[in-house]
Amino acid sequence: RKADLECQLVVLGSGPGGYTAAFRGADLGLDTVLVERYATLGGVCLNVGCIPSKALLHAAAVIDEAEAMAAHGVSFGKPKIDIDKLRSFKDKVVNQLTGGLSSMAKQRKVRTVEGVGMFVSPHELEVQTKDGVKLIRFEQAIIAAGSQSVKLPSFPWDDERIIDSTGALELRDVPKKLLVVGGGIIGLEMATVYAGLGSEVTVVELADQIIPGADTDLIRPLAKRLGQRLKGVHLKTKVVAATAQKKGIEVTFEGESMPETNVFDRVLVAVGRSPNGGKIGADKAGVVVSERGFINVDTQMRTNVPHIFAIGDLVGQPMLAHKATHEAKVAAEVAAGHKSYFDARVIPSVAFTDPEIAWVGVTEREAKEKGLKIGVGKFPWAASGRAIGIDRTEGFTKLLFDEETHRIVGGAIVGPHAGDLISEIGLAIEMGSEASDIGLTIHPHPTLGETVGMAAEVYEGTITDLY
Ligand code: FAD
Repeated sequence: RKADLECQLVVLGSGPGGYTAAFRGADLGLDTVLVERYATLGGVCLNVGCIPSKALLHAAAVIDEAEAMAAHGVSFGKPKIDIDKLRSFKDKVVNQLTGGLSSMAKQRKVRTVEGVGMFVSPHELEVQTKDGVKLIRFEQAIIAAGSQSVKLPSFPWDDERIIDSTGALELRDVPKKLLVVGGGIIGLEMATVYAGLGSEVTVVELADQIIPGADTDLIRPLAKRLGQRLKGVHLKTKVVAATAQKKGIEVTFEGESMPETNVFDRVLVAVGRSPNGGKIGADKAGVVVSERGFINVDTQMRTNVPHIFAIGDLVGQPMLAHKATHEAKVAAEVAAGHKSYFDARVIPSVAFTDPEIAWVGVTEREAKEKGLKIGVGKFPWAASGRAIGIDRTEGFTKLLFDEETHRIVGGAIVGPHAGDLISEIGLAIEMGSEASDIGLTIHPHPTLGETVGMAAEVYEGTITDLY
């Protein structure tokens, strides 16, 4: 059968992994085709993930800050929310970035094909386009088909009042009573948005802690603030049934702190994401996919089929955009004949809640589980001039050091801008910095970033009088 398109590299999926891989491949001279089922490039992150959520979190943060200033003599009155305008702002942010990707693809002569792609052989991909099926014959392929939200099977998903994160980001309206099922990063970010806009938000979480992967001390300041902002956060609570009724979605719970049933105007399900590896005909190409839909790769991002690579959410945790982009560069470079490897020591995680929580490298929980000998330097923001000046002293900066080498192995920050501040700790870990390297680095005063240097000094014992 004659191919409609022939190329050296085909990339399946145009999220942060896919577009980065396609652009890097093209920059290195590979004739590249990028296949995406949706009309806009950018995948989950740009269209219905990282970017729109942060645009809306910005609105919630402004509202919160304005309210907080009332206690200090600056009052703005009750916020008036024009939901259509706010939605347009969010859409404009998304469109600016996705539009940018289209022109970057054109500049590099990356051919884009809109449609659902499925492998039909180890060197062929069939794409279901609006104009019929197109066959692409390729020399090498990079699979970057990402993930999608897990849908709890017992929920009446045909009712539009049951939504996932994509539905929540559509921002159709501000529901009066919103239930968020799942106290992970995505659930709490969306809870923060809607609480800021005026919804009465209840969060239920199965585990005994929100954001279960993070250290408990980091969670405390967030849990406290959420306790003030939300109707309730219920841990160790399970949703056992949800039924659509005229008055709302009636939800039944199992858990100590929650009434057995309650009615909500909207229910957001944010209980995790599942990889799309099982939906792309990988078996026809000979690529092994796990039962859950993950694809196993080596440090060069190769699957078990040497000319086919896989990157991003579908190769495993953490499912984060910055992991996908780094893996993408490795895959494209290896496809172009370079000797690249994915050898990042650490990948930072951030919850863009209020306060933000960010951590990188070894956590205290992990150190305990693995029996690692670590020492901790913790700097409370109550002792930071800048934190006091912005009236946000609940945060802290924590660094974890190997007790033998005094090298930094991990770090975490809770407080406003933690997500921006964590990069320095990531860099310090990558550089193999010792506590003294960080403590002796002059940080500008007064900044929240200063707390990183101070935490190292606390560990070294050169700061003792914190309070
Ligand atoms: P994706 O972005 O999932 O892209 C995969 C693409 O492949 C999609 O466009 C899909 O349409 C396409 N595709 C799939 N199958 C096919 C097929 N058969 N044919 C054609 N096209 C196909 N991460 C962060 O790092 N920071 C954040 O702040 C953050 N916030 C988030 C907020 C939300 C609400 C959500 C849902 C996620 C968030 N994430 C965040 C996670 C982030 O979005 C993902 O880690 C990232 O998008 C993964 O990139 P990817 O390239 O692997 O796949």
